[in-house]
Amino acid sequence: MKFETLAVHAGHGPDPAFGAVMQPIYQVSTFAFKAFGEPGTYDYTRSGNPTRAALEACLATLEGGTRGFAFCTGMAAEATALGLLSAGDHVIVHDDLYGGTYRLMTTFAASHGIRAEFVNLRDTDRLRAAIRPETRLIWTETPTNPMMNLLDLAAIADIARERGVPTLCDNTFLSPYFQRPLELGIDIVLHSTTKYINGHSDVVGGALVTRDEALGQRVAVMQNALGTAESPFDCFLVLRGVKTLPLRMEAHHRNALAVARFLEAHPKISAVLHPWLESHPQHELAKRQMTGCSGVFSFRMDGGGEAVRRLLEGVRLFTLAESLGGVESLIEHPWTMTHISMPPEARLAAGITEDLIRISVGLEHPDDLIADLAEALDRV
Ligand code: PLP
Repeated sequence: MKFETLAVHAGHGPDPAFGAVMQPIYQVSTFAFKAFGEPGTYDYTRSGNPTRAALEACLATLEGGTRGFAFCTGMAAEATALGLLSAGDHVIVHDDLYGGTYRLMTTFAASHGIRAEFVNLRDTDRLRAAIRPETRLIWTETPTNPMMNLLDLAAIADIARERGVPTLCDNTFLSPYFQRPLELGIDIVLHSTTKYINGHSDVVGGALVTRDEALGQRVAVMQNALGTAESPFDCFLVLRGVKTLPLRMEAHHRNALAVARFLEAHPKISAVLHPWLESHPQHELAKRQMTGCSGVFSFRMDGGGEAVRRLLEGVRLFTLAESLGGVESLIEHPWTMTHISMPPEARLAAGITEDLIRISVGLEHPDDLIADLAEALDRV
């Protein structure tokens, strides 16, 4: 079946109890045993819950995996994936990615004896050279947050498989509608479902999807052991959001491209970082690996920090806020907001400078969004 059909139907049919057409919210912590020593399908919500199971099955199907796991945040999904490693293990992490992932690697991983090494994975020779006998995971994110750089997932997966190292891809920016890492050979897909998968800025959540049965079983054990799963109510909201994912992604892509083309032609903007623009240095890879872009991209402004401040204070329709992927348009300053957990040297090395602005283009009419930016830029 096509993606649009699966987005509506995967994971649940009419509920067996009363035929409810939408997945009901099983807002319970525990389930009655059938008899002594005989639990039912579910026994305790941390270990499993019907509402969560529906979302998890849906996400597994959409990513082309066999097992899906829903978490209470994207970071909970990340921590659970890291929980698969042990002290002494080595993880290779792409060197330009979400600031919270950087913080997790330099705090939690480091204090638990897991050595995270940041490597520019756009250069596959560097990846080859970085793999050691104790390397247990290669962590990718593409497009990267907020630089919009791309990683060649098939090339990375090939090298990793040759050397017997599992790979993970954070697919938050594109969702399975625009990019399917498992089909490119990646072993674990990660999402902050807070973003496009839920899409309405009213819930935080995360997900992992695997294809290999044994790996999926290890994630299931870790999700239960750590207690990082998502609540039934939040699972219900995310599942509801998923049903419109294809429609939303098409509109985010269209709107963002219109805004990006406007900014690219504006004299006060020095660069626009958007993989679907012909000016993006990895445009060819974008066309090969992805079927579209989301609503997120970044741009650089002339005039330094003061010009940035005036633009961010001047917009009316764009809300100054962290996060992305919702129906409403947001604007933010990675240097002082989403990426402040990275030390200045690490930010600068990744290209996150004070003139960089990230926007998440929502589902408003692009003419209104462009007019808002045009007026704010006039006042800069
Ligand atoms: N991965 C990416 C690419 C993100 O942008 C974020 C949050 O912004 C996360 C992971 C973490 O997700 P959450 O905020 O849901 O914990």
